[in-house]
Amino acid sequence: MSNHLFDALARHAPDRSRPLIDLADGTRVSYGETFDLVARLASHLIRAGVQPGDRVAVQVEKSWQNLALYLACVRAGAVFLPLNTAYQLAELDYFFGDAQPSFVVARPETVEDVRKLCAARGKNIVESLGTNGDGTLLKAVANAPVLPVVDRSPDDLAAILYTSGTTGRSKGAMLTHENLRSNAEVLTDCWRFSGKDVLLHALPIFHTHGLFVACDVILLAGASMIFLPRFEADQFMSLMPKATSVMAVPTFYVRLLDHPGLTREATKHMRLFTSGSAPLLAETHRAFSERTGHAILERYGMTETNMNTSNPYDGDRIPGTVGFPLPGVEVRVADPETGRVLPQGEVGVLEVRGPNVFPGYWRMPEKTKAEFRADGFFITGDVSKIDERGYVHIVGRAKDLVITGGYNVYPKEVETELDAIDGVQESAVIGVPHPDFGEGVTAVVVRERGASLTEADIISALSERLAKFKQPKRVFFVEELPRNTMGKVQKNVLRETYAQIYDRGAA
Ligand code: AMP
Repeated sequence: MSNHLFDALARHAPDRSRPLIDLADGTRVSYGETFDLVARLASHLIRAGVQPGDRVAVQVEKSWQNLALYLACVRAGAVFLPLNTAYQLAELDYFFGDAQPSFVVARPETVEDVRKLCAARGKNIVESLGTNGDGTLLKAVANAPVLPVVDRSPDDLAAILYTSGTTGRSKGAMLTHENLRSNAEVLTDCWRFSGKDVLLHALPIFHTHGLFVACDVILLAGASMIFLPRFEADQFMSLMPKATSVMAVPTFYVRLLDHPGLTREATKHMRLFTSGSAPLLAETHRAFSERTGHAILERYGMTETNMNTSNPYDGDRIPGTVGFPLPGVEVRVADPETGRVLPQGEVGVLEVRGPNVFPGYWRMPEKTKAEFRADGFFITGDVSKIDERGYVHIVGRAKDLVITGGYNVYPKEVETELDAIDGVQESAVIGVPHPDFGEGVTAVVVRERGASLTEADIISALSERLAKFKQPKRVFFVEELPRNTMGKVQKNVLRETYAQIYDRGAA
């Protein structure tokens, strides 16, 4: 009798008084308290008719009870389906139609609307969960007698996470017990998490980073976390003295660098800062090292694969790289068209294989087939290269590649040159339809405060640094780049904004 993932995540539950979560208001939640709630929630799900393999869709704010609900789904053999709190009803309708959840948990504020949506679809059970333990769900489980842990094997599904779907329909990435367990074990080990760690946790928990990378690792290690609803630099810095480690998206580091409290002294006691989910600029890495003496450990992964590569714990953490493949994970760089594996140093699409890689997209066998090679490697869609020391470099997304006059331009190469210009804070390079070139290389730039750069200054600064076909045909200035909650620049939004600029007759 075993439940592959749950047995691992609950390994420290018997140590009841061990702290698991500290909230900003000083409340402490122990392993015992959490796993008691997990057992009652899981039993409630089973009694409500949730069968092993059924989906439980959850769109609620971050709270320790929300984490308990994830663990309860795993315990009950259900498939946890967390949804970004930003999704609107029309989007929920798509997810519910696709995933067919048999149990739904919504926020108290939206539960009535969600209930109507589900009623139109038939038999779902909808409960609510707020941030202070309010809502109908916890009342319903208050005295639920506890049922046994449901058996699950390594290949059974534990979760479905919908990819952000910047193009086309959002796809449900199916994650098995072994995908999640193997990755969390490897990360715990590689990053040396132990029961002494306290993680400052300000990421959302509807995403792979905040949920599987952060929470699963903490649970496996028997460590604890300070659970913050969102990132806010003042609060983050004020709680840092109580922490040993941080897992963050690059924007957190950019904001921390703007905070006067970020000093060598304030971070002296810290063991580890990691970054992922979006590229960390080499410049941010260096600035952080100079200010604090800590080299940020950058790692790379995606919803479909969990984590693939990581800079070393011991050894050089090289700015602008995502390190080496994690133990058990194989990576290679291939020609995107033919799938031919490319020699070391060449740029192509990164492919990965390992126990971390998902079995496919929910009810999309064709899409799944198209994204795997015959030998089981998953085609990540990330353009990359592996350098002579074996470090992986992510150059950008394949779909962000610009093809202009028949030439390929990798946005990252142009962005690196742009960012090196005095007065440029950051930039994004996109391809926009162009009547003569197919696509025109277009730069969107954020200037440093007080800088008075013009479009002509930028074009002239690049003229001797990049081949003519790589140089932006137009440069636009913005106050900030559009980013999603994980800090990824939304190039699709930029492409839409600037879609018409090269139309014949456009100024
Ligand atoms: P998601 O599925 O939302 O986690 O997004 C995964 C994508 O984020 C990857 O395919 C990469 O394009 C990007 N990504 C994640 N980590 C990194 C990193 N360290 N550097 C560059 N891109 C990254």
